[in-house]
Amino acid sequence: MGIPLLDLKAQYQNIKAEIDQAVLGVLDSAQYILGPQMKALEAEIAAYCGTQEAVAVANGTDALVLTLKAYGIGAGDEVITTPFTFFASAETVAQVGAVPVFCDIDPVTLNMNLDLLESKITPRTKAIIAVHIFGQMLDVARIMKIAARHNLIVIEDAAQAIGAEYDGKRAGSLGHAATFSFFPTKNLGAYGDAGMIVTNDSSIAAELRMLRFHGCKTKYYHEEIGYNSRLDEIQAAILRVKLHYLDSWNAARRDKAKLYDHLLAEAPVTIPGVDPKAISIYHLYVLRTDERQAMMARLSAAGIGNAIYYPVPLHLQQAFTYLGYQEGDFPVAEQACRQALAIPCYPELTEAQQREIVATVVGD
Ligand SMILES: *Cc1c(COP(=O)(O)O)cnc(C)c1O
Repeated sequence: MGIPLLDLKAQYQNIKAEIDQAVLGVLDSAQYILGPQMKALEAEIAAYCGTQEAVAVANGTDALVLTLKAYGIGAGDEVITTPFTFFASAETVAQVGAVPVFCDIDPVTLNMNLDLLESKITPRTKAIIAVHIFGQMLDVARIMKIAARHNLIVIEDAAQAIGAEYDGKRAGSLGHAATFSFFPTKNLGAYGDAGMIVTNDSSIAAELRMLRFHGCKTKYYHEEIGYNSRLDEIQAAILRVKLHYLDSWNAARRDKAKLYDHLLAEAPVTIPGVDPKAISIYHLYVLRTDERQAMMARLSAAGIGNAIYYPVPLHLQQAFTYLGYQEGDFPVAEQACRQALAIPCYPELTEAQQREIVATVVGD
């Protein structure tokens, strides 16, 4: 019997009765788009994050696009983000016509290195997308101070960090706005695509509600060019059930991570680096090793799920060739891409499985 990287089947089996009832309730209601489930989920996510507003959209990528649009970011503007993240964090900047500008990462946390951030700001800079990588927040309060000096917007890309904390504050509550993804494999995952934006700015929230619905406040009266980006009622109902479990699931992931940290303390690998002010939700437990090929071969041979997050830093992605970056521009991100390897870390994982995984990681 193998061990998957993430066991969504086991998760579903544990909450099947509640999920099935929620989905059937939506089917029965015959209200499938922009209905009561979505509105209730918006209120619950806003309360969970400690923000005034939450706006549900079709996915986490759209959440970034609509947020950039709502702040008027477009052609001629620069947006600073990390090269060590999922493509969407920078793809969306290009989608709205702006230029992604990368800032290298911290070698311990793998989040953007804030000592380098201010040197990336130019007169064209309009925003910073602060990505909380693998579920560990970066210091958004510090970014907000830098942003205030230069009149910049700060968007938290919290796709991997719902429920994570920094200095007692939840992910999403610190920037001007924050985006979430409920892609199935995220800590709070739908059974399809889904996303959300949170903010304390009610005028931005109103703009986002227009943008997701073809630029309308009133049906068939289009005030601007918008998008079709809505979170459907079935996904909202599923997410409302799962939201009740999120804190206990996140705590369980932290427990698994703690055991890995302990079991791997003497092993010739680098365990995930921790910022003492951050409480991670361990979206992924990512080791670093110079022996990655051999380790992957051992894990795969034993039927143990493993994956590289991320194999190529964004500045070296083919799609961004036009930006003119070269190998060596962001050496810390490049090294992380050569060394990083995720191993299974999810609530349903047993201690026996973790010990088997560790034995295979170290090659005993
Ligand atoms: C998953 C993810 C996204 C995109 O979310 P989708 O819902 O897949 O569109 C954006 N940024 C980061 C950091 C992510 O991990």
